[in-house]
Amino acid sequence: MPQPLPQSVKRAAELRHLLNKAAHAYYVLDSPFMEDAVYDNLYRELLNIESKHPELKTADSPSQRLGGQPAKKFINSKHRIPLLSLDNAFNIEEFKDWHSRVNKLVETDLNIKFSNSKWQMVGELKIDGNALALSYSKGILVKAATRGNGSEGEEITPNVRTINSIPLCLNLKKPPPWLEIRGEAFIPNKQFRTINEGRIIKGENEFANPRNACAGTLRQLDPEIVASRNLDFFAYSISLPETWQSEIKDFLAPKNQLEALAWLKKAGFKVNPNTELLKDLEDVKIFSSKWESERQRLPYATDGLVIKVNDFVLQQKAGCTHKAPRWAIALKYPAEEAPSKLIKLTCQVGRTGTITPIAEFKPVSLAGTSVSRATLHNANRLSSLDLHEGDTIVVRKAGEIIPEVVRVLKELRASKAKRLDLPESCPECKGKLVQVANEAATRCINSSCPAILRGALRHWASKGALDIEGLGSKLIEQLVDRGLVESIASLYGLDISLLASLERMGTKSAEKLLEALAISKQQPWHRQLYGLGINHIGESNAKLLAKTFSNITDLETAACQSPNLIKSIFGIGKEVLESLEQWFLNPKNQKLILELQSVGFSLAVTNLQTHKKDAKRSRPLTGNTFVLTGTLPSLSRSEAVKLIEERGGEIKMAVSASTTYLLAGEKAGSKLTKAEALGIQIINEQQLKKLLAV
Ligand code: NAD
Repeated sequence: MPQPLPQSVKRAAELRHLLNKAAHAYYVLDSPFMEDAVYDNLYRELLNIESKHPELKTADSPSQRLGGQPAKKFINSKHRIPLLSLDNAFNIEEFKDWHSRVNKLVETDLNIKFSNSKWQMVGELKIDGNALALSYSKGILVKAATRGNGSEGEEITPNVRTINSIPLCLNLKKPPPWLEIRGEAFIPNKQFRTINEGRIIKGENEFANPRNACAGTLRQLDPEIVASRNLDFFAYSISLPETWQSEIKDFLAPKNQLEALAWLKKAGFKVNPNTELLKDLEDVKIFSSKWESERQRLPYATDGLVIKVNDFVLQQKAGCTHKAPRWAIALKYPAEEAPSKLIKLTCQVGRTGTITPIAEFKPVSLAGTSVSRATLHNANRLSSLDLHEGDTIVVRKAGEIIPEVVRVLKELRASKAKRLDLPESCPECKGKLVQVANEAATRCINSSCPAILRGALRHWASKGALDIEGLGSKLIEQLVDRGLVESIASLYGLDISLLASLERMGTKSAEKLLEALAISKQQPWHRQLYGLGINHIGESNAKLLAKTFSNITDLETAACQSPNLIKSIFGIGKEVLESLEQWFLNPKNQKLILELQSVGFSLAVTNLQTHKKDAKRSRPLTGNTFVLTGTLPSLSRSEAVKLIEERGGEIKMAVSASTTYLLAGEKAGSKLTKAEALGIQIINEQQLKKLLAV
């Protein structure tokens, strides 16, 4: 075996130290300083190092210990049968490994019973609480103990007697002389919130999560406090004396986990109802994906599923390691938090010049996706994180939520690491950055900053704004970097040969883009307004404003002269008014309005109905929509678009039932097939010319 590299030796020592400290805080003090998923991830890293270099496995490694030491304030209680933990599978692939290990055992080791009939599993929820071992003597609860280090726990019988869902006397006709029930004590979510609210009022530290609140409660010296916290309990296993069957004739000994759960229920315990018999891997996948989302609706916390071999004979054959049974595995939900190593800090310049610091880090899998960048929002957040070069950071991504850096694990920081702050100048144009008064944002105020222009163009072309097909980020980058466009209005002066000469473009895509740009001029007023990218004017505010002010001049007059008119619009706040006023006062924006109008934007409500008669006379194609496909014999696409629009026709990109004409040339594409199927009138260039001549 190769010698471990010095960095592995150092890393193993670092991890051992940190994980032991975390385990003490978690198990003994009931006050963790690290997220469970982060602990699990670092623990896994240590296991990997130890499996490659077993000589690094020291006696004080957390891999050699189970749980925490029993607290001194209670009497220690030795478990008759060790109370173990569970091995973890962090994804379905790891679960498959466990499944094939059990399969192998069945195939190589076991008798006909299992090789002939398929072995089955039971899926249970992994309740995020604390394991309890309850001893019943002749059906009476005589002792309750925590798991502790697996061989001995703390005796907390008076506390456990206060848990209403734990029967003090079992519902058995002839109870055995001794019997142990195991299960999970937990605090329901609602109760957890109430407890923490009470602690805040009393100026006490909040519990980090329901599991720690439960552990802290079970170790209270005063049972009255325990009673006031309303703990609950789900039973999940029975340890019966070998002789029990002869002593209790009324019951049949459970032969498998499902029967055991039914037995527990009958004996008077609360058993979690969300348990299923799982025949194969497919069943496990269905069960796990169901609970990945459904768990949010449960009134108590779960941190995964426990998949157990159903048959007790097979369980016994499988046996246990020093830490966990081989016949069960915890299938954890996809982690929403994980540690990662910071690679660098970069900054993004938004369309309003806002500087957003971004942490770039080693990819980690979070909530089922790989993540390698996260926003740090602003300078304040960056400074409160106290980020240093090469830091180990905790990253979170829950469901659809954008990834974020939650905090830094300072314990793993290199001693001479340099602190990271926002730069003083814009990473794009090198202009000075300013911190805007009353705002958390730091901004680049150079209105010619290429990053701001790129952002403005991206926003203008976006779906909710002008929706310009073909004007993507890469093309925008080329247009700005080559100085071909210096405002959104100058997009409309681009010519086909120039566009066609750009990277990843050609005549066809250039023509299509010009067509899309022409179509964008017909977008309604509220989209044009939203597209201008005025601070605080999102899609819904743009709609509200466009409803009240039918054109940009009216909006400007109100913003600069009659602010009350704007303030009276329901849903529009002070910051919108201020931002509008500032925007109109900027001469650059005044120039933009004129330029947009000169390239054909109305920046107003266009009422086709009102002008129908006039339009009919001078614009004979008003009310007709055209879709173009293929190459026309003499007209280029942009010429055809221009002619149609000049006569009032409307250009659309896709054929639909409301299309009036499909103008088809040579090598027409799928639009022709669709138009034929929909019975749309198909015309050629000659027929178009006739229409234009009316
Ligand atoms: P565990 O909680 O991951 O799993 C074992 C326990 O699951 C059992 O002891 C049992 O009490 C419980 N359980 C719940 N439902 C069950 C069911 N239906 N069937 C069987 N058992 C069920 O293991 P653990 O050893 O108690 O704790 C290890 C975990 O604790 C780690 O994975 C880590 O997430 C967390 N931890 C966190 C920190 C921290 O700093 N945040 C420190 C140490 C440990």
